[in-house]
Amino acid sequence: MDFTHGRVPPERQLRVFLNFGEHGRELITSDVAARLLRLLAGGPAAAARLSGGGVAAERALRRSVFKVVPLENVGGRAKVESGELCLRKNGRGVDTNRNWDVHWGFKEKDYDPYEEAAGARPFSEPEALLLRDTLQAWRPHAWVNVHSGMRALFVPFDHVAAVPTGPKGDALSAILQQLKRVHCPDCVIGSGGAQVGYLAHGTATDYVYLNLSVPVAMTWEIYGDLMATRDDCFRMFNPLGRTEYEQVVSSWAAACAALPGVLALHPDVPQPGPGEQGGEVEFQGLRARLGRRTPAAMGAAAGGARAWGSASWAAGSVALLAGVAAASYASGRRMRRRGTAQSSVEENEKQSV
Ligand SMILES: [Zn+2]
Repeated sequence: MDFTHGRVPPERQLRVFLNFGEHGRELITSDVAARLLRLLAGGPAAAARLSGGGVAAERALRRSVFKVVPLENVGGRAKVESGELCLRKNGRGVDTNRNWDVHWGFKEKDYDPYEEAAGARPFSEPEALLLRDTLQAWRPHAWVNVHSGMRALFVPFDHVAAVPTGPKGDALSAILQQLKRVHCPDCVIGSGGAQVGYLAHGTATDYVYLNLSVPVAMTWEIYGDLMATRDDCFRMFNPLGRTEYEQVVSSWAAACAALPGVLALHPDVPQPGPGEQGGEVEFQGLRARLGRRTPAAMGAAAGGARAWGSASWAAGSVALLAGVAAASYASGRRMRRRGTAQSSVEENEKQSV
C-alpha cells in the first residue's frame, strides 16, 4: 500500500518502506500497520502531533511516501490463525527472514530447523522475491522490518556481531538513539548480531543494507513477554490485555510516523529545503494489495457508500485492514484460551529477528 501527502518531486521525497507480519506468530505487528495507516489518513499535522513530533516532523511527513506491507507472510499467518500459534515460517515451511542472499544458508552450531529454514536457495520464496524486486525498483531511504519477541531497535548486521562504522554508521547510531529516547526508552539498541544472542544469516535487513544500499535499514522488535512459557507463543509474541495491546499498537504506530522526522540525521537522505511546507493534503497513487477486492466491495466493508475518489479509497482500505486485523487478533486470543500446552516457565529461547 502506498501512502503520501501532497505532490512531492522525486528528488525531495523521503521514501520509507515498512514491512510487517514476516513471522506468522507475531500477529501484533500487522495491527501496528493498520493503526499507522489510520494515523496517516488523519493528515500530516495530526499525524505529526500524535507521533510526538513538531513542525519539523510535519514537514518531513509532507514530503514522505510510505510503502507499507501490512502482512508479508499471508500463508504462515493463516496457519497461525488455524491453531499453529508457534509458527514463524511461511506457508511453505521457510523462514523468509533467512531466505535473502547475504551469507545465505550458513548454520550456527545451535541451528534449530523448526525455527529457521533458509529455503532451497536464496530467494526461493515468493515473499522475499517480491520484496526484493519492489525495493530494487523503488529505492527507499529507509527500510524497517517490524517484528516481535523482544523490545529492541536494530541496525545491521545480523550475520556478524558488528555494526556499520564511519560517518554513516555514526548516523545510524544517532537515529537509533533518537528513536529510543522518544519512543522506546527500555529498548535494546545496536545490531541484531551483537545483541540478540545468536547470529542470523540470510536476513532481509542485512541484504537491504549491503546489497541494495538503503541508507537507513533497521529491524524493530516491538514487544516480547519473557515470562511466557515456551509453548505459549501467543503470549510470548503478542500482548494479552486490552490496555497493553493499545499501548503497544499506538506507540509503535507513532514511532513509524515519526521516522521521517529523524531521517535527516543521515547524510544520504534528502535534506529539508528552506521554508519547505509541502502541498495540500491529498492521497496520491494509493493502491491496496488486498486480494481481488474491488473498491465497491471495500466501500461496503467500510460502511461507506460514497463515490470513490482517491481519499475514500484510502479510508476504505484502512477501515477494512483494521477490521481484518482486529478480527484475526481476537481469534488468536480465543485459541490461546482454549488451550495451547502450558508447560513450566522456561527460559525464552524463541527466535525473534
Ligand atoms: Zn520475527
